[in-house]
This record gives sequence, C-alpha cells and structure tokens, in this order.
Amino acid sequence: MLSIFKRYPELTDKIQHTQLANFPTPIYKLQTLSEELDLDTLFLKEDGICSEIYGGNKVRKIEFLLGQALKDGRKEVLTFGGAGSNHATVTAVYANRVGLRSISMLSDQLNAHYLRRNLLMSYKHGAELHLYPTDSEAQDAALAQLDIHEQQTGIKPMMIPSGGSSPLGVVGFVNAGLELADQIEAGALPEPDIIYCAMGSMGTAAGLFLGLKASGLKSELVPVRVVPEKPNHLELFINLVHSTNSFLHVNDPEFPIVDFDKSDIRIRHDFYPGEYARFTESGIAAISKLRETEGFVLEGTYSANAFAALLNDASSGKLTDKKVLFWKTNNSCDITQHIDNLDYRDLPIDFHKYFENDVQPLDV
Ligand SMILES: *Cc1c(COP(=O)(O)O)cnc(C)c1O
Repeated sequence: MLSIFKRYPELTDKIQHTQLANFPTPIYKLQTLSEELDLDTLFLKEDGICSEIYGGNKVRKIEFLLGQALKDGRKEVLTFGGAGSNHATVTAVYANRVGLRSISMLSDQLNAHYLRRNLLMSYKHGAELHLYPTDSEAQDAALAQLDIHEQQTGIKPMMIPSGGSSPLGVVGFVNAGLELADQIEAGALPEPDIIYCAMGSMGTAAGLFLGLKASGLKSELVPVRVVPEKPNHLELFINLVHSTNSFLHVNDPEFPIVDFDKSDIRIRHDFYPGEYARFTESGIAAISKLRETEGFVLEGTYSANAFAALLNDASSGKLTDKKVLFWKTNNSCDITQHIDNLDYRDLPIDFHKYFENDVQPLDV
C-alpha cells in the first residue's frame, strides 16, 4: 500500500488511484562516490525501476491521474509535452494498459536519441501524436481536439497538464516524500541534510517538498530547473504546493496544512542549459561520473543537470560531511525490445524529421 494511504487512510476512498508500478522504490548507498566527494553519505533513490516496462518519476503521477480518468468513465486522455516528453510516453504506455486511448499534443524541441525512442514507444502504445511548433500552439489546438474526440466517442477526453503536474498528479510525489520518511524510519538511510532533484513542470519538487514537510523531515530540497524561467516561477511553485496541500486537507483533515517560508524553496537556476533539452558538457560529465563510479545511467535533459549541480556543490565544499540524497527521476528500463521492429515512417509525417535529421552533437 502507498505510504500516503497508510498514514492517511481516509484518503483511500477519496482520492482515485490505480496501481501500475511498484513502490517503494529502492534506496542505494553510493559509497565510492561519497568518499571521493568527501560527503558523510550519498544515497540514490531509484524511481527508474518502479515498473518493468517504463519507469521514472512520471509513473508516480500517472497512477493518480489515470485512476481519476477511469472513475470518470473517460475513454481517452489528452496531454502535452515536448516531442521527446517522458510524461507523454508514460501517459501513452499506461493509458493503453488500463484500456484508455491517449492523445499527445507535442511541441518541437531539440533532437536526441531518447526523443526517437519515446515517440516510437508512444506510437507502439496507440497514442495519437500531434506536433506543433511551440507549446502555446499545442495548448491552443487542444480545445478543438477535445471537441473532435468528444464527437467520435461521446465523451471528452480527460485533459492532463504538461508533466502531469496538477494537484492530483502531484499527490504522487507527496506520497514519494512520505515513502522516503518511511524508509528513513525503517533504517534504509539516515535523514538527508540535502536532497537534489531535477525540476521541469515542478510537480516532482512541489510534491516532495510538501511530503517532506508533512512528515516532519528537515531535509533541504534543491530543485534544479531545466526548463525556461518564468517571471513568477517561485510563486507558481508555491501555488502548486498550496493547491495540492488544500486538496489533501479537504479530503482528509488529518493531512496537515504545512507551514513554510518562501525562503525554504531553493530553486537552482544555474544549471539551465539556455534551451530546454540541450545537453551540456557538465551534464555529460555528470552522467559519465555516476556511470563509471556506481553504474547508474542518467539522461541529458533532466537528471544529468540535477546531478551536475550536486557534483558542483560537492567540489565547492558546500556538501562536505553532509548526508546527501540524489533523487533519480529518469526511466531505467530498456525499451529496445518494444520498439526495435517499428518503422518511424508509420508515424505522422511531421515527426519524420527527428529520425532523418541528426541528433544534437553532445548526444553520443
Ligand atoms: C519530467 C521529468 C523531471 C521533472 O519532473 P517535473 O515534475 O516535471 O518537475 C525530472 N526528471 C525526468 C527524467 C523527467 O522526465
């Protein structure tokens, strides 16, 4: 049973959830790297293997979102993301598994090998794929798509925001924070002084932040931003924490309204590559470091930047003798077997360019 339902049993009947993966995810001690970096301890939380088909942080959110879609009697879900979006692929894979169709409203982004694999995986799982030049054009086109699909099926598809980061999706990461508290209590790791994670649509970091606060952990969370900055980024983060918090409190008054200060939220901006999904030298170096010392494999768009921030802080002495936790958010399952006999020319023609043009130079 999920930690959140164990602690707040009233939520079990109030909040929709469909089990698609295995939680808790394991904690690994990275002894070699910890010594090399002069930390007290370094642990890694591996969300990448929460499922055998396609893991990673988005699975935590989709369990709740698809639970709601099923309860509402939907036949389809519609979501958004970059052309290589992990969230869109997770939505396609798991919607298919629970018998729903999915529509992906994707926007152009820098080319990469993982983008090709995600597109093929989504296609394989029956996703209807649309490509737009920008995210705002994808958003604008969504209403018309919802109408078209309502006419075809008799019911509007459920709309899932980018990254699955609605309050309901974010509950998946509140659970993750409580799950960590349970693992600390069980002795799997000491309470971390500091936790690093990558931040895109903010649901991961906002949910973790709330889960850590609700469980009384004092760990500092460092969300590493990898998407363009918005003028009100911090306010949006705070709003997402508050809206998720009231959603939980309304459904179970036992879930506390947490008290926090703006200054508790330490979004890191200095590892943003200047463009979404652009691989960086520091990210690539971080991937090599972790793979060579401990054997875990990160990817270039999200987790590499979060790990690069951790390495940077370690080498500047900020983490000396600290208990550090790295939250590994990317999928670790090999999806080759699912996609290796697919032909990209079966995808809508707009997507062919990603297979015919080169990937970005740092993606080797
Ligand atoms: C989406 C994603 C993130 C960021 O999660 P958000 O909830 O969107 O902030 C981090 N790592 C990976 C691998 C992702 O796909």
